[in-house]
Amino acid sequence: MSFESLWAVQSAIGRDPDTGGYTRGGWTPTEREATHWFRAECATRDLTLESDGLGNLIAWWDPAGDPRGKPALRPAPRAGNVASGTAGNGSGSAGPPGASGGVAGHRPDVAGSAEPSSGSPDGGSRSALYLPGGEPAARRGVVTGSHLDSVIDGGAFDGPLGVVSALAAVDRLRAEGFVPRVPIGVGAFVEEEGSRFGMPCLGSRVAAGVLPAEKALALTDRQGVSLRRALEDDGTDPAGVGPSPLLAKMGTFVELHVEQGRGLTAPVGVASSIWPHGRYRFTFTGEANHAGTTLMEDRHDPMLTYAMTALAANKQARLAGARATFGRLSVEPNGTNAVPSTVTAWLDARAADTATLESLLAAITRQAVERAERDGTTVVVTPESVSPIVDFPAGLRDRIVGVLDGAPVLPTGAGHDAGVFSAAGVPTAMLFVRNPTGISHSPAEFAEEDDCLAGVEALAAVLKDLAK
Ligand SMILES: [Zn+2]
Repeated sequence: MSFESLWAVQSAIGRDPDTGGYTRGGWTPTEREATHWFRAECATRDLTLESDGLGNLIAWWDPAGDPRGKPALRPAPRAGNVASGTAGNGSGSAGPPGASGGVAGHRPDVAGSAEPSSGSPDGGSRSALYLPGGEPAARRGVVTGSHLDSVIDGGAFDGPLGVVSALAAVDRLRAEGFVPRVPIGVGAFVEEEGSRFGMPCLGSRVAAGVLPAEKALALTDRQGVSLRRALEDDGTDPAGVGPSPLLAKMGTFVELHVEQGRGLTAPVGVASSIWPHGRYRFTFTGEANHAGTTLMEDRHDPMLTYAMTALAANKQARLAGARATFGRLSVEPNGTNAVPSTVTAWLDARAADTATLESLLAAITRQAVERAERDGTTVVVTPESVSPIVDFPAGLRDRIVGVLDGAPVLPTGAGHDAGVFSAAGVPTAMLFVRNPTGISHSPAEFAEEDDCLAGVEALAAVLKDLAK
């Protein structure tokens, strides 16, 4: 199916008729509808869809490992060919495609071979089809994909472009008659933006084991609904949440994503690194009082401390060549005629390296504390999530640049599941599609159709190279 027709259907799901934006928080009706669309597209292609306990999905195309030996697209009779990645369903289908029954061992092109497959160019250990003792290992594949959730009133491209491009690239390779030597997986990972439960890359963090299940399940949304409850409401057993068996099958991960700044002038680029970044909660506490009768000099107003801190953050980030944003605020008691008692503000800070990020946070905190002393208020800074720098492996990156005839290489200030998987040891790369305005996390986010098509072509070429 063409990219254009896939995009037309997917991008209509949950679009706000007033703003043109999307609010697809994890496990909300619009996000579930998008996920349902993804499952149906995978079923149409007869891909083998696997889910882990949290709901991260990978749909496998694995003609070489399929015992039926079917090479190409067949219509699927049902709306989902789902094998749960968590044990206990008794189906016996939780293993990797082609791994059960020693299927891989009967393939003459791999039998007896200890050479790493080309699925993991940065080291054979993750992609070896055989363990050192000659035992068949899980067949690891080349996984691409992204996420279908969005920020609040976000744009159409951040996330879905990578999922739609992945399906279109698989269609393209099949139409060419290409037969991958290792499985190719199309992934959709849950709650990447953290717009509902406040934790960015929630799905990949839980999958990689860097966010423990108990901590994840205790997260709450703005209505006080816990992730545990949201999963139960969705018909998912929270007991299955934990490190994902899908990760062991990812020999390589390549995420295509819309570029979120103006740094890319060619249609397609390749990522070098993801800036270190963090979310920090600033709690400013003062004294609630009457807006009409309290003399200005008698007030302990935390809003003033916050306001000064927001200005300081902006200035310090400019001085450091970094980014600092207060984009979320909560005020108590939140009355027009009352001096507030508490202002809670969330700082998003990012910089090119860890030292700059740390000194930026220290400078902002120092100015907040100084101002609090003058205002007779207090400030407490709590890190909510901090992600270290991710340098994508140079070997894989250079190989992809070669496949793409010298595509430009650039860093990004945006976090991605690719960063989490890379930190977890999966050889990972990212492709960016040009964003002419640099606007993202907004309904105005945009990419030209020609650039999106160039992205599909580039992704198909990369998958072909990694899975040949
Ligand atoms: Zn994204």
